[in-house]
Amino acid sequence: MSALPEGAAKPLNIARAADACFADLQAYLEDNPHAEVPDDILASLHMLYGKNFAKALEVVDGGGIVCFVGEQTGRRVYKVPGRRAGDTYIVFPAHYCACQSFLFDVVGRGEAVACKHQLAARLASVLGRTAVSRVPDYSIAHMLLEHCA
Ligand SMILES: [Zn+2]
Repeated sequence: MSALPEGAAKPLNIARAADACFADLQAYLEDNPHAEVPDDILASLHMLYGKNFAKALEVVDGGGIVCFVGEQTGRRVYKVPGRRAGDTYIVFPAHYCACQSFLFDVVGRGEAVACKHQLAARLASVLGRTAVSRVPDYSIAHMLLEHCA
């Protein structure tokens, strides 16, 4: 059995732990729709995401996150506001964000499992804090082309 460098296995394990944490949160909020997020889940998310967790909560509190749902496929893409007025990022919460931090910290250095926009989109979705817009699937493809070109 070959050993992986220590950092190589870490992001995958954190991603799995984060998935489990979000599944717990979703199940809890389905059973208790008006409840606050339990402290143990908040603590777990903070531990998993570090400084990006507080930043993501600020983004969620700032509002303006839109979830676009493809009419045929149900595929979800989010538009998340950036720091500067008028900036928005296209986000697939589990796989992609168009921001620099995603490119450098998540993809390049593997230091973070997600950027604050990905986490904000995921949190806002579970907490019901997004506007939801059903759109033809080609609109989602156009959004990606505009932001990724
Ligand atoms: Zn981002």
